[in-house]
Amino acid sequence: MRASGISKHMEAATIAKPTQNAKATHTDGLCLCRFCHNPLRHTFVDLGMSPLCESYLSVEQLNRMEPFYPLHVRVCDKCFLVQLEEYVSPEDIFTEYAYFSSYSDTWLKHASNYVDMIVDRLKLGRQSLAVELASNDGYLLQNFVRKGIPALGVEPAANVAKVAVEKGVPTLVKFFGCKTAQEMVARGQQADLIIGNNVLAQVPDLNDFVGGIRIALKPGGVATLEFPHLIRLMEENQYDTIYHEHFSYFSLIAVENIFRAHGLVLFDVDEIPTHGGSIRIYARHAKDDSKPVHQRVTTLRSSEISAGLARMDAYSTFSDKVKESKRSLLEFLIRAKGEGKSVAGYGAPGKGNTLLNYCGIRTDFVDFTVDRNPYKHGKFLPGTHIPIFPVEKIQERKPDYVLILPWNFKDEIVRQMAGIREWGGKFVVPIPKVSVIA
Ligand SMILES: [Zn+2]
Repeated sequence: MRASGISKHMEAATIAKPTQNAKATHTDGLCLCRFCHNPLRHTFVDLGMSPLCESYLSVEQLNRMEPFYPLHVRVCDKCFLVQLEEYVSPEDIFTEYAYFSSYSDTWLKHASNYVDMIVDRLKLGRQSLAVELASNDGYLLQNFVRKGIPALGVEPAANVAKVAVEKGVPTLVKFFGCKTAQEMVARGQQADLIIGNNVLAQVPDLNDFVGGIRIALKPGGVATLEFPHLIRLMEENQYDTIYHEHFSYFSLIAVENIFRAHGLVLFDVDEIPTHGGSIRIYARHAKDDSKPVHQRVTTLRSSEISAGLARMDAYSTFSDKVKESKRSLLEFLIRAKGEGKSVAGYGAPGKGNTLLNYCGIRTDFVDFTVDRNPYKHGKFLPGTHIPIFPVEKIQERKPDYVLILPWNFKDEIVRQMAGIREWGGKFVVPIPKVSVIA
C-alpha cells in the first residue's frame, strides 16, 4: 500500500524544466517550490529574522546597519521538499567565503576515507576523472591528486579556490549548472565520478544543478552526493543547521524524486555520521543498467515513509520542539549567569549564528567565542556581535562553561580542549537539548 502511495506522489511531482533564473516567482503572495513550482502553503519552522550566518563583522562594521532576512522554512505539499526562500543570491554569499574545509581534522579524515573507498569501489585510475562540485580548498580532491588520479574542482569562491590551486588541485572558479557542465563536456572533461559534499542544500536552482550532473557525467559514471538528512534534523531538533545559505533540506524521498526527473537513478545510499547525520547517495544514468539498485535504498525509503515524511502532518510538529529547545537553553544560561558563572563559546560556525540569533544570546550571556580559522579572528559574530578570538583565549580567560557551537564536532573539541577541566571548566552542548559535559 505504502509503495503505491509513494509512486503516486513521485508522478505528481512533474519534471520541471531548468530555468535561467533560480528565483521562484510569487502567485497570491506565495513563493513557489524550487523543484516542482507548486505554491508553498505550509510552514516547517519560522526562526524569525537573522543576518547571513557567514557575514562576520569587522570592528568598523559594528556601528552600522546590518541586514536581517527571514528564516522562514516551508515544506512543499506536493514533492515534500523542505526549503527556504532565496533571499540573497549565491553570488553575494559564495564569491568570498569564510569557510575553509581544511580547518577540521574530522572532516579531512572523512574525506580521505571516502576517497580510499570510492577509488576501490569504482576502480578509478590514471585514465579516470574525478570532479568535485564546490571543491572548497581542495581538502578532498588532494587525495585523488596524491594517488595520481586526475581531478578537477569547481568552486565559485575565488579565495578558497586559490588555496586549492596552490595545493596542486586544478579548479574552475565557477558556479556549477548545465552551462558549466556543457563547457566541461566541450573540453573533454566528462567525469567518471562527480562528488558533491554539502553543496546540494546551497543550490538555488536545483533543476539546473542536477541537470548539469547528468550532462557532466560519463554514460557509465557515478555521482555521489552527501547532505544532512532531514529525518535527523527533525528527530534531533537540529534547527540551527537552517540558515540562509541552505536553501533546501532533503529526505531521500525528495532527492530521489528530483534526480529521477533528470534521468538519474539512485542505486545506493549510505547513512553517515557527518554534520549530525547525513546520507550519501550514489546516482547513475537511468540507462546504465550495470548497477542494480541496492536494498539499502528501498530500506531507507521505507523508513522515511514510516516516519511520516510522505505525509504533511509529520512536518507540522517540528516548530514546537524548536521553541522548547530555545527555552531550555535560555533557562540554563540564565541560571548560570545568576550563579555568577562565565560562559565562552567554542567555534564560530554558521549553525552557531542561527542558534544565537534565534535564542537572542549576545555578550550578556556569552563573553566571547574562539575559532581555529584565522580568517575569523578579530571579527564579530553577525547579529549577536560576540567577538571571535584564537583558541588560546579559553586558556587565558578560564571560563566556567564552554558552549560548543559546532556540536557535530563535539567529541573532537572535548578531546582538544580537555585542559579546561584543570580549572573546573565544563562543556555545554545546546542541541538536541542542552547538556553539560563535566
Ligand atoms: Zn515541490
